[in-house]
Amino acid sequence: MAGMNSIPFTVAKNEHFFDRLGDYIGDVFYDILPEQGFELRDEQIYMAFQLEQAFKHKKTIFAEAGVGTGKTIVYLLYAICYARYQRKPVIISCADETLIEQLVKEGGDIDKLEKALGLEVDVRLAKARENYLCMKKLDPLSEYTEDEEILDVHDSVPDFVFDQGVSMQSFYPYGDRKDYPWLSDKQWEQIGWDPLKQCATCDFRHRSAQTLHRDYYRHAKDLIICSHDFYMEHVWTKESRIREGQLPLLPEASAVVFDEGHLLEFSAQKGLTYRFNYQNITNVLTGYQGQDVREESLQLAEDIMALHDDWFDYISEIAVRVEGSNRLEIPTDTKMREMAVQLEKMVQELLEQLVFDAELFTMDAYHTKIIEEYLEFFTYGLSIFLKDDEGVYWLEEDGDQSSLVIMPRLVEEVLREEVFQKNIPFIFSSATLSQNGDFSYIAKSLGVDAYDFFSVESPFDYEEVRTIKEHGYSEEAEKYLGIATQLQENEGHSLILFRSEEEMQAFRKWAETQDWSFDFLFEGDKEISEIVREFQFNKSSVLCAYHLWEGLDVPGEALTQVIIASLPYPPDDPVFKAKRKHAKNAYDEIDLPYMELRLKQGIGRLIRTEQDKGIVHIWKKA
Ligand code: SF4
Repeated sequence: MAGMNSIPFTVAKNEHFFDRLGDYIGDVFYDILPEQGFELRDEQIYMAFQLEQAFKHKKTIFAEAGVGTGKTIVYLLYAICYARYQRKPVIISCADETLIEQLVKEGGDIDKLEKALGLEVDVRLAKARENYLCMKKLDPLSEYTEDEEILDVHDSVPDFVFDQGVSMQSFYPYGDRKDYPWLSDKQWEQIGWDPLKQCATCDFRHRSAQTLHRDYYRHAKDLIICSHDFYMEHVWTKESRIREGQLPLLPEASAVVFDEGHLLEFSAQKGLTYRFNYQNITNVLTGYQGQDVREESLQLAEDIMALHDDWFDYISEIAVRVEGSNRLEIPTDTKMREMAVQLEKMVQELLEQLVFDAELFTMDAYHTKIIEEYLEFFTYGLSIFLKDDEGVYWLEEDGDQSSLVIMPRLVEEVLREEVFQKNIPFIFSSATLSQNGDFSYIAKSLGVDAYDFFSVESPFDYEEVRTIKEHGYSEEAEKYLGIATQLQENEGHSLILFRSEEEMQAFRKWAETQDWSFDFLFEGDKEISEIVREFQFNKSSVLCAYHLWEGLDVPGEALTQVIIASLPYPPDDPVFKAKRKHAKNAYDEIDLPYMELRLKQGIGRLIRTEQDKGIVHIWKKA
């Protein structure tokens, strides 16, 4: 077995790494993998050659390859060898937080490579904060909750978390959402991190689940797997974290692979988002009032807090809920804008006052810096909000808390400077990157100026192994009965994809009144990779989901039927409204391509290997 972190082939002093890598990859695809029962695919050989050029010349490449081309194995193999050669990990960024476990699961592509090639790959997951336990929530909750399952989580927390005297050497990562698969998403919300938590000032910080997990994945030797959202959060917070004496979210990488790379732009927008919580400004300015500052500054801070509260209340009042999205639309409104203009003016004034207060030495430097940074962040967000067409904004509600979210509409400039100017290989991999072979649209929207590209079709004979049937319906009840017949005829073994959570819950309500001879699994009832695992092993079960249009990889008899409960058009939320507003023909340029792409991805869940066959039913409202 090749040792951990050593290149899996030898390179003599007079040989070049890439020549030997080429020989090794040839051996792997022509000899080693076929000997282990893997099929040799011409597409993989072609891809391997293209990727080699990108790694060798540190280029950006768009690798468009259909389902079944084995593209993941190819990029993983290069990524592992390159990370070891450069002695820096490669980051693999996936579409969705729910999917990052798929790559490392038993029987997944990394597992297969390790077994076939005798490799021991050091791969670690970098997950978003929401996936980690928050002791500031769990600890007080455990005092009064009667929920046994939450109490079980509390009991499982390692002793060092509570015992201040324990040495840091004995700390280890704990508190990953995945460690508690029995909890529903609703239960997890009560104990997982959320944006209202003030981690910077938390007394658990050094023994907190997210701190220890971060420390763990930062030391990965080969691969770090994260979501696009997390990667973009890293890009966006890197400078400010360094300024504050913190480490960036991700370490320096030798290369980055964007799996399902067509979804990166949206994550970039989300990563560059300004999120204002109702409470934030009050917390910051209350800290200001606690300082020995001049009377006029105090009055101005009071006035800002009052106006800010009125403004937020007004926004909450006019915001409109949108089906299929947790983003509440904020309609254009003169009063709301006038309040925002006034607020921006007053915050600017306070920033000037702050300079005086700091010069009079009545405030300590640390407090001045914190207040200044927040107010600057606040006014910058407001300026995007007030400039027509530069920002997209919406309200998000979480219980009785709400946040105003402001997102820039175009991200290409920032990406060009912050990401693609780096002299490292960037690999985009997806079945859908180009518009009929033209990659200029994606390249432009991401700020990629120079790139290589290629396309390879799926090798599967879809005509032979897959039947697609379309069905019209006018009433939901009619569709439900139709879906029931399809499920009975197939004896379960099905994935039903819904356009939104609401749609799935409506179906669930109905399904729970019926008799079935197989089990149903619903997204959100447990941790997602646990649900996927159950679906895979409980072969006759039916999986209902609204997120798994992409990335779900369940070959074999567990999944022989995909039912598309309705066409996956984008929600009518602020983000898509902004996109539509800037299109000449919104339906053709935004809605239709989005729907077609997602539909194609959804259908793609069915045939995962040469042996798979099955049926896809698509329900269309008449
Ligand atoms: S550091 Fe943050 S997530 Fe961790 S316990 Fe404290 S508040 Fe919660």
